[in-house]
Amino acid sequence: MKITDIKVYPVWVGSRNQLLVKIETDEGIYGWGEAGLSFRELAVAGAVRHYREWLIGRDPMQRGALWQEMYRSQYFEGGRVLTAAISAIDIALHDIVGKALNVPIYQLLGGKQRDYVPCFATTGAHGDRLIEDVKLLLAEGWNVIRTVPSHPQRMSGSPMNVATQQARRGPQPGDTTWEPRDSIGPTAADLVRVREELGGDFVLGIDYHHRLNVAETASFCRRMPSGTLDFIEEPIRDETPEAYEALRRMVDIPFAIGEEFSSKWAFVPYIERGITDFVRIDISNVGGFTEAMKVAGWAEAHYIDLMPHNPLGPICTAATVHLAAAVANFSWLEVRVSPTEQLGFYDETIFPVQLKLEGAHFPVPTDPGLGVEVDEAYVARQEFKFAEAPHLRKRDGSYTNW
Ligand SMILES: [Mg+2]
Repeated sequence: MKITDIKVYPVWVGSRNQLLVKIETDEGIYGWGEAGLSFRELAVAGAVRHYREWLIGRDPMQRGALWQEMYRSQYFEGGRVLTAAISAIDIALHDIVGKALNVPIYQLLGGKQRDYVPCFATTGAHGDRLIEDVKLLLAEGWNVIRTVPSHPQRMSGSPMNVATQQARRGPQPGDTTWEPRDSIGPTAADLVRVREELGGDFVLGIDYHHRLNVAETASFCRRMPSGTLDFIEEPIRDETPEAYEALRRMVDIPFAIGEEFSSKWAFVPYIERGITDFVRIDISNVGGFTEAMKVAGWAEAHYIDLMPHNPLGPICTAATVHLAAAVANFSWLEVRVSPTEQLGFYDETIFPVQLKLEGAHFPVPTDPGLGVEVDEAYVARQEFKFAEAPHLRKRDGSYTNW
C-alpha cells in the first residue's frame, strides 16, 4: 500500500476552527486525523504540506518509522507546530492501518483494557449558578467535574465567543482585562461552597489555564481547606519544571499538567520528578498514537494516570478514546459536550459518523479504524475563519496569559 495524497482542511466547526487531515492510498483506503494547535491552524497546515512532499509514495503501514523520519529528518526537530502536524498524520495513518487490518485502532495498541471510557465535564459557571451546574451534573451521572476561575471583570460569554468577537472586531482593550489576583478569592470561595453544600463524594478540579504565577497559586490553594480540590490543572506555565517543584513544596493539591507538551521529552521531567499527578496528554499535539503510547508507558511506570486533553472535534475525541481503551493507567477523558456545555464541535453535518457519549462515558467502539466519517465535499466548501485566542491584559496594560 502507498500513500497517494495528503489533504489538509482548516475548517470552522461550531465556534472554533478544526484542522483536519485526510490521507489517501492506492488501495482506496483513507484515514482522517486532526491537529491540536488551536489558533495557529494555518502554520500547522503549512507543515503538513511540507511532509506531503515526501510522504506520497510511502507505505502507511510503517507508521512508527515514518514518525521517526518526520520528527528527526529536518535537523531543527520538534516543536509544537511540527508535532501537531505529525499528530494529525500519525492519527490518519493509524486509521488507515486499522481499516486495512479490519480492526479498531486499540487493537493495534495492545487491545482494549476497559469496556467504556469515563469522562469528565466542565462548567464555566460561578456563584449560585455553579452550585446549580454541579447539582445538574451529579444528577446526570457526571461525578468528575472541572471548574474554571472566576473573575468579576471578564467579558460575558464563553471563551470562544470572546475569540470570535475579537476576530470580527479586532482587539478591544477595554473588555479583555484580567487580573489574576482578583480571581483568587472568589474562585476559592466558590469551590469551598461547592464542597460544603454538595459533599465530598465526587471529584472536583479546576483548570487555571496557566494564568497565575507561583506566589498567586500558593495564595489560591491556601484559601481552601485541604481536600477541597482533587486536582489543579495548569496553575502556572510549564516551560520551567523547577517552578512546579517550587510550587509542589508550597501546596498539596495534585497537579494535572501536559496538554501543551509536544513530545515524550517534554513529559520526562514532569513524570520523573513527581510534579504531575495526572498526565494531561493531547494526542493531537504530542505526536499521535505513536508518541502517546510511549508517554503512557512512562507514566505507568510512575503510577500516574492519563487524563487526556480533548477540546477539539470528533476525530481527536475518537483517537483519544482508542488510546484510553488500550492503556491500563487512565482516569477520565475531557469532553466538551455535557449537560453544562454544548460548543458545537461535533457537528453531524460535517461528521455524519462519530463516537457517541452514553451518559458520562464513551462505549469502546468496534468499527475498524477510528470509527469517524467526514463529509469531505461539505468540508471542502467551508471556510477557515481567522480567529485569535483572547489577548488578556492587566489593568496596567501589561499582557497576561489567556
Ligand atoms: Mg487545560
